[in-house]
Amino acid sequence: MYIDGEWVNSQSGETRSIINPFNQEIVATAAEGNEEDARAAIQAARLAFDEGRWGTLAANQRGEFVYEIGRLIRRDLQELAELETLDTGKTIQESKDDMEDIANVFQYYGGLADKNGGEVISSPIPDSQSKVVREPVGVCGQITPWNYPLLQAAWKIAPALAAGNTIVMKPSEITPLTTVKVFELIEEIGLPKGVANLVLGSGATVGAELSVNQNVDLISFTGGIETGKTIMQAASQNMKKIALELGGKNPNIVFADANFETAVDQALNAVFFHAGQVCSAGSRLLVEESIHDAFVEALIERAKRIRLGNGFDENTQSGPMISAEHRAKVESYVQIGKEEGATLAVGGKRPDNPELQNGFFYLPTIFTNCTKDMRIVQEEVFGPVLTVETFSSKEEAVRLANDTIYGLAGAVWTEDLNKADFIAARLRMGTVWVNDFHPYFAQAPWGGYKQSGIGRELGHEGLEEYTEVKHIYRNKKPAPIHWFK
Ligand code: NAD
Repeated sequence: MYIDGEWVNSQSGETRSIINPFNQEIVATAAEGNEEDARAAIQAARLAFDEGRWGTLAANQRGEFVYEIGRLIRRDLQELAELETLDTGKTIQESKDDMEDIANVFQYYGGLADKNGGEVISSPIPDSQSKVVREPVGVCGQITPWNYPLLQAAWKIAPALAAGNTIVMKPSEITPLTTVKVFELIEEIGLPKGVANLVLGSGATVGAELSVNQNVDLISFTGGIETGKTIMQAASQNMKKIALELGGKNPNIVFADANFETAVDQALNAVFFHAGQVCSAGSRLLVEESIHDAFVEALIERAKRIRLGNGFDENTQSGPMISAEHRAKVESYVQIGKEEGATLAVGGKRPDNPELQNGFFYLPTIFTNCTKDMRIVQEEVFGPVLTVETFSSKEEAVRLANDTIYGLAGAVWTEDLNKADFIAARLRMGTVWVNDFHPYFAQAPWGGYKQSGIGRELGHEGLEEYTEVKHIYRNKKPAPIHWFK
């Protein structure tokens, strides 16, 4: 753990084994912190903030530091990508792509750091001057999940530092490796001590302390909806600002006039990429009735051919699930789907291949004949499971697409751009893709409507999350007003 500029073990001396989900081998031993360690890190971040070690630096200087982290990530890209694949099982190409995105995020926010200064506004009061400035919020707690370990951390670390905050980061306890490595890079660039702190450990201890501690001014969390609710309640203790990136049950709407082959190919990618462990996975296919049979047939054919395997093997197209517990959750949803009367069209079990038996693998699975009230249609499975429903008008497509508690992302496939506009305007989601699925980048905001979250990451909105807005009003001709005679 990295606290107040020092690498430290947990105060209790406890450790945790980090497992490769491809073969269950132990790849590292991590310190296992608890509330005490979290409090030490919060204290360090508080002092660094209050003493102005970071927020009072010129914004462009802070930006240079943040930009430099991005440069070092590119320098060490291969090593970081290998660590991410060891820790998550995702393919090495995915990990390399993640690292490119991560470097971009740091460099984007490095560049934005000095472009967030505020503005002079016209005051309605004579002989006065008004300006609105943006200031850092203070000490920020940051909690990330295991599916995109370093990517989710980057979306938080980069804007928080660019805006002048001090941070305490807690990665998922099962995937800390790349985040640890980035703190080595932070040390290498010589960030003032106490500005960026890293505490490893479980959500119930370290995460809970960050959420409830009175010295934390903002908590930013990415993870599941139930954890999000717990954190929101804890945060109410001192009214800390909250930013929540939660789950999704994202519709992928395919009209009959879409390019068939492209839509099939991308529907497959939308749901089965990274074994479906993606918050924006296109796990709900809504296909126009007239092409349903042909579309599903093509999808099933392609799903059967997806090659599962070791993320380091270049023939592998998809790795394992993250853990035994998580695979068990996916399996229980498949069971629920069967009991609800959906038709299991392909998959629905673990692969038979002997070489995959030590990993937490699960076959790409498609349920047809799904209806909107089924739990497998409504709830986030977070695995390689696709549900298929049909629609026969654009209005019905919108109704079905919006009919969950989530509102993270959705896509529409059609050659008719008026129809695409109609759908895009009506989806209650933070991101809508037209004739594509999955693109996200540093320049565009990301986040959820409805129960998919609160606030936005990425884009200039992602920087503003980490700022407080202050109005400074100056009377240029102060004089008595004699209200009280
Ligand atoms: P999770 O909620 O179980 O854990 C996420 C993090 O929260 C971990 O670091 C965990 O240790 C911590 N945590 C757990 N209990 C806590 C508590 N009581 N207090 C504070 N922290 C606690 O989620 P997960 O299983 O790691 O990740 C999967 C979820 O993340 C999915 O629901 C997925 O949709 C969501 N996700 C969302 C986005 C997005 O951008 N919206 C991105 C990635 C993942």
